[in-house]
Amino acid sequence: MKVVAALTWLTLTLPIGGNAQFHFQHTPENHWVLSNGWIEAEFQFTHQQTFEFVALRNLRTGDIWKAHPALASSPVRFASESEAVDAYIPLRFVQESIEPIPPRGMRQNLVFDEKGGGFRIFLALELYDNEPVLRYSVRIRNLLDQPRRIRMADMLSWNFEEPGNEFRLLRVNQWSVLPPLRNFEPQDILLPSDFRREFVYSGAGAAHCAWLAVRDRRDRGLIAGWEFDGRTEASARYRASDGRLQLSAFIESLNRYVTPGGEFQVPPAFIGLFRGNWDEAGFRTQRFVERVLAKRVPEEHKFPYVVWDSWGYQTDINESLIRRNADIAARLGMEMVIVDLGWSRTIGDWRHDPVKFPNGLAPLADYVHSLGMKFGLHLAIAEAALDSPVAREHPEWLSTEPYSYFGAKGLCLSHKPVQQWLIQEIVRVIDEYQVDWILQDGEHLVKRCTRRDHTHDPDDSNYSNAVDGLNAILEAVQKLRPAVLWENCANGGSMMTFNMVKYYVTSITNDASGALGSRQAVFGATFPFPARYTDRYMPEQPSNTYITRSYMFGGPWIFMNKLEAMSPAELALAANEIRTYKAIRPLMRDSKIFHLTDAPLEGRVDAIEAYSPSRDTAVVVITRDGVPSNHHLLRLEGLNPESSYRVRFQDDRRIYVMTGRQLLEDGVPVVLPAPQSSEIVYIEPADLAFALPD
Ligand SMILES: [Zn+2]
Repeated sequence: MKVVAALTWLTLTLPIGGNAQFHFQHTPENHWVLSNGWIEAEFQFTHQQTFEFVALRNLRTGDIWKAHPALASSPVRFASESEAVDAYIPLRFVQESIEPIPPRGMRQNLVFDEKGGGFRIFLALELYDNEPVLRYSVRIRNLLDQPRRIRMADMLSWNFEEPGNEFRLLRVNQWSVLPPLRNFEPQDILLPSDFRREFVYSGAGAAHCAWLAVRDRRDRGLIAGWEFDGRTEASARYRASDGRLQLSAFIESLNRYVTPGGEFQVPPAFIGLFRGNWDEAGFRTQRFVERVLAKRVPEEHKFPYVVWDSWGYQTDINESLIRRNADIAARLGMEMVIVDLGWSRTIGDWRHDPVKFPNGLAPLADYVHSLGMKFGLHLAIAEAALDSPVAREHPEWLSTEPYSYFGAKGLCLSHKPVQQWLIQEIVRVIDEYQVDWILQDGEHLVKRCTRRDHTHDPDDSNYSNAVDGLNAILEAVQKLRPAVLWENCANGGSMMTFNMVKYYVTSITNDASGALGSRQAVFGATFPFPARYTDRYMPEQPSNTYITRSYMFGGPWIFMNKLEAMSPAELALAANEIRTYKAIRPLMRDSKIFHLTDAPLEGRVDAIEAYSPSRDTAVVVITRDGVPSNHHLLRLEGLNPESSYRVRFQDDRRIYVMTGRQLLEDGVPVVLPAPQSSEIVYIEPADLAFALPD
């Protein structure tokens, strides 16, 4: 269904089934007021013929975020080499339409021409049922008969009037093994009152996740994310003197050549409202991402998977070794075997190594399938060793990025011949080796490339290598082989964006660097991202529950050890812990995450909770890391104060019945017997059938 209207007032109220109640109104005063019953977004076409943001309203809390009267803003903000188009530029209204969009959403399309006639602007404003989030995107068409260059695009162009206020910003690091080391540290920063910017540098290989949250003294808050894998310079700043709160997110080094009649798509972004602390900011982001943006989970009842990955043996692998480990993995209850780096002739030559795998990989994949598991394969799509056929035959396909990934160099993904070759290579690998899952690894995925003999613009490397390169290849392959699942890994979680979530079912966070590091990464990454986007590689043998539970909370749990070297006791423990993980994974995946302590660190107790409001049930993984006391008083969050709960533990045999208020305010004592030890705490409604832990 498509509803088209001229520039006359229009009200459209559409129930889309369930409780969805969209109310999209174009008033006689040329205001657009878009509501889903929770968030209301208002824009206006002014007497000066400009398009401006008016207000965002939280209809449940009454919070209002108004435009700054002296400093207009608009989600339309870009510039060519000669002119800027923003809230101050006169436009001519062309047309509008409203359309329902999946999943249970509504889109307002607005089309304007720049008054001089240079650009046509397509603005899409989207609301979704039961999400306090506005998603939007801007597309630009060059109406002149000469080419132009887009030199600036702001994906987060918002100015609010907030007199006499004070704001904190939360940003979260990505992962980096290069100094300065980064491991998803959340950074809670008081915005200076003098309009100095606090930056969020996001995209492949950058410092931070592509997300920010701000909140004031009364816990009124905004969340924002942008759907772009390339480098971005985002920021937030506040000026107390005139109450101006400004957000922005600029595509770095943008230099987009747009032919006459050609178009440029500014990557979409979203802004949402919350009232509460950073856990609430994370929860609102995660629910929206999971419902609207993220690649669907493949099997609701068994995702995130428990996985074995061969990297514990490094590249010293072969068919019989993988088969023997697969036997053990299946006995332990694992659901997938991934053959990591080392299976192919070299990086960039994605044919099986004939010495290690004389029968190819298909019989091995068959065997893994016959054990009831999926078969995954490591693929560094953007890398090629200098002695690989592709690099020898086409040295001109390499990007100008100066690094090496195990000695390999980067392929330029936005060079058309590279794309054509890669798409057919990836499809061949999937078909020939019966691959269910691609562990996509490499150095960072958006390369710099300034070669002048490539099909992309040498001066537009950042946008081009992200959108025309990586995204175009993923799009093409996933269209051809939709059942294959992709895992995002680039030597660790270094491309944590809201575009990434559209193509991958999970992402690595911390790359195999130990128990404490694993917990630290999950702690930080579960502010912006759903818990399933935090997979963890466990390189240690599972010799105690401090180790296993340091990897237990979050997305796919990936054993990266030598299964054959496990002792009988370790095998028994692993089988038990895997059973436990399977029992709690749906709760971790679908729940609100509460960070009950400070970030994990030696000398602390750390605890992370998943609470499902619909089931009124919580699970907590709590870990003692070197503190002297063997007791910890654990205070929960999210529970109903008036309800009565049964509290039980994975290891401790005690059972408590406590009120929500007691659990929230006084806490429940948890026994953590060893200096490094861990416990799992289950909180269920007390009237549920009595159940002892396994
Ligand atoms: Zn290139």
